[in-house]
Amino acid sequence: MHRKPGGRRKHNDVLDDFLRTQDLNTLTLANGGDKKQVWEIRKMRGKLLCGFCSSVHWGKRAKTPQECFVCKGVCERLDALVKDALEKAKGFEWETFAVSSSLPREALAREEDLWDWCQPQKCMCIKNALNRDAAAAIAKKSGNRMDAKNPQALFSIDFLKGKGDAMPAPMYLFGHYTKHARDIAQSRWECSKCKGRGCDRCAGSGKMYSSVEDEMRAAAKETFLAKDALLHASGREDVDVRMLGEGRPFVLEVQEPKKKGGIGEFEKSVNKGGKVGVHGVRSAQKSAIELVCTSHFEKEYDAHVEMQRQPTQEDVGKIKEMFAGKFVLLAQQTPMRVLHRRSDLERKRKVFLLDVKVEGQFIRLKIRTDAGTYVKEFVSSDGGRTVPSIAGVLGCAAVCRQLDVINICDEFLNTAI
Ligand SMILES: [Zn+2]
Ligand SMILES: [Zn+2]
Repeated sequence: MHRKPGGRRKHNDVLDDFLRTQDLNTLTLANGGDKKQVWEIRKMRGKLLCGFCSSVHWGKRAKTPQECFVCKGVCERLDALVKDALEKAKGFEWETFAVSSSLPREALAREEDLWDWCQPQKCMCIKNALNRDAAAAIAKKSGNRMDAKNPQALFSIDFLKGKGDAMPAPMYLFGHYTKHARDIAQSRWECSKCKGRGCDRCAGSGKMYSSVEDEMRAAAKETFLAKDALLHASGREDVDVRMLGEGRPFVLEVQEPKKKGGIGEFEKSVNKGGKVGVHGVRSAQKSAIELVCTSHFEKEYDAHVEMQRQPTQEDVGKIKEMFAGKFVLLAQQTPMRVLHRRSDLERKRKVFLLDVKVEGQFIRLKIRTDAGTYVKEFVSSDGGRTVPSIAGVLGCAAVCRQLDVINICDEFLNTAI
């Protein structure tokens, strides 16, 4: 319901003149013959409005703001509430801001009564006018800039409770993480015994494993004086799988950061722990979360395959033959180990061979796979649920002893975010 300032006034003036100069019959015709509507229009002319509301709507000026038909005087508190909010915004760093306001529901209903006679698409509503004026006042008093799309401070002007407030807006950081240990989950993993309360099994931490998210949260609290931080990543690796190479793309949602700068310190703070690394971190828009979380990427893996017997060059030959210089098309039934949370489906996935060799007691296998391929099951066959499999081709039980993600083919993100 935005319209240019000034345009409204003109519209009302025209209507005012029209009503003043026409007799009721002509008016009735002009309004499609609805006599009742014309009387309503005339009645509305008698409504008293405060200075603010009469600048938005058409009505007589009330002697005191409390007499205002629409707002009963709450709009005149705008300046005081803005002052209140600016005071709260002193506690954190910000240069851009957005404003929202809440008005008593009855006031909005009374405003709708006024709209019944004007063309609503041509009216600005009081709420929008209040937001506009609040934004102008905040910009003037702080010297900072309104930016609804990318605000650093969120102002709320609450006419209902009679208070103004300001909070640091969330900050979004895009980057890549690596994970160098086999005992770190991606996000919080509660202790199954105490469900997070803390017990002897988890040494009071409430967690089964520490997590990539925990490491980043701690660094965000330290660097940005944030209240909390949430990790949004593109897929996840198992707890015992390392994430190497250029890492996995993520967006960290930093909640209520009192400090804005210091991405370099944030990286250092995460990296000093040694188990989790972050690099290439930069600020991003909120929309990056969806892009990162819904994109699917091919991945490259390095697997240590253990067989029931010592592997031979012949086994290596069988695996090379399996791929026949091209790729293997897998039919994967949902693995037994994830059946409790995924539906039982068959998925078709492509696997390319990058390298295979005998290394001590292991076959060292490097592959590139479609997004959503279960690599451990490609090795073991998961009791025949994945076909073909390494175990099947070698004619011998085989398991993936160690697995690392060595590359995620996500180059397009760097230009898209
Ligand atoms: Zn008013
Ligand atoms: Zn516990």
